[in-house]
Amino acid sequence: MYRAPRGTTDILPPEQPYWRYVEQKAADICQLYGYERIDSPLFEDAGLFIRTVGAGTDIVEKEMYSFEDKGGNQVTLRPEGTAPVCRAYVEHGLHNQPQPVRLYYFADIFRYERPQAGRYRQHHQFGYEAIGDGDPVLDAEVIDMAWQLFVSLGLGRLTLNLNSIGCKECRPEYLKRLKEYYADHLSELCRDCKARLDRAPLRLLDCKNPDCQRLAQSAPKSIDYLCPPCAEHFNHLQQYLEALALPFIINHRLVRGLDYYTRTVFEIQPEEEGSQSTLGGGGRYDDLIEELGGKPTPAIGFAVGIERIILNLKRQAVSVPALRKPQVFIACMGGEAKAVAVKLAATLRRAGIGVIEAVGDRSLKAQLRQANNLGVRHTLIIGEDELKTGTVALRDMSSGEQKNVPLAQAPDLLR
Ligand code: AMP
Repeated sequence: MYRAPRGTTDILPPEQPYWRYVEQKAADICQLYGYERIDSPLFEDAGLFIRTVGAGTDIVEKEMYSFEDKGGNQVTLRPEGTAPVCRAYVEHGLHNQPQPVRLYYFADIFRYERPQAGRYRQHHQFGYEAIGDGDPVLDAEVIDMAWQLFVSLGLGRLTLNLNSIGCKECRPEYLKRLKEYYADHLSELCRDCKARLDRAPLRLLDCKNPDCQRLAQSAPKSIDYLCPPCAEHFNHLQQYLEALALPFIINHRLVRGLDYYTRTVFEIQPEEEGSQSTLGGGGRYDDLIEELGGKPTPAIGFAVGIERIILNLKRQAVSVPALRKPQVFIACMGGEAKAVAVKLAATLRRAGIGVIEAVGDRSLKAQLRQANNLGVRHTLIIGEDELKTGTVALRDMSSGEQKNVPLAQAPDLLR
């Protein structure tokens, strides 16, 4: 017996209304804010992610699905959505378009993680990027858009965490202070943090180990080390968020797990759970496009896991609309009737009326039971009598009422 690979799931029909609901709300929000859709390949040159996400990160160190293809190329299944969009921006010269370029995507994401509730090896993200401007108004727009997405989905009890981690001018000094602080507390750190103190000191701030969390409380804060332009950017952003009445809190321990972030970082979390359950997050990445061979181009983006959204929709008992299904079933008795039924089904479908046809040779009773289970509103029945008279029996499934109508009139009546 084959099973879906560990950490992957099949999305069966009963789950689909949640997916369509989220995709529709996300696409509506993008339209409202002027973001256009982009789709990038499922796999990329491995170097793209190593270079941008960063060699010392969990994603690159432990989680990438990388392999050599038959042509000897090192490729990686997309472990995040931002780098491919930026690669496309540079490759297609999108800097020639009016800036910023606003793009959104739905993407399958692959990470070799330990599967648990809300954590998979293949998951799906909705994300968007605004590339080509450093104005904090754009940060506010991107954050507002994320918040409004959750509002429109009907999700409540969320917190918006905000931080600024500075730029390449001011961050080195901060990292130096951070390392000095932790060096004084080396014996209290967990094994992982001891190992990453040198190459990824920011990651010590969001370690889940209780001792490390306690230490992080009193660690130096990045916002105390911002250079004047970064500080001004952060102040303006806060003013805009206040003007938008977004209930943000500044979280000094929020750093995000990828190397490319600069200045603004933010995450949205459900109130009842810890940081394991982050719904979505994003931030600025002002050096990334240049890193990929483009001109220096500031940018900011956000991504959210669709499985996590659906988990929270269910937890908060948000009801989602059912998907449209055919409302007509055609039942028939005997071989000759079948030919008429096939033609009738085709006529109705060509007229835009959804139809499910009986197949096989079940009794009329069994066919009506099937129609009932499908939840259709009407069943058309073709038996011997109907064949003789060129009619069809039209049955209303909720009342059980039935009347014979001329075959040719069925489409108009059903419409
Ligand atoms: P990240 O790129 O790590 O910030 O991820 C963005 C969002 O994707 C997270 O906030 C989660 O909602 C979701 N996500 C990340 N990793 C996984 C995973 N392994 N399984 C399911 N959802 C995930």
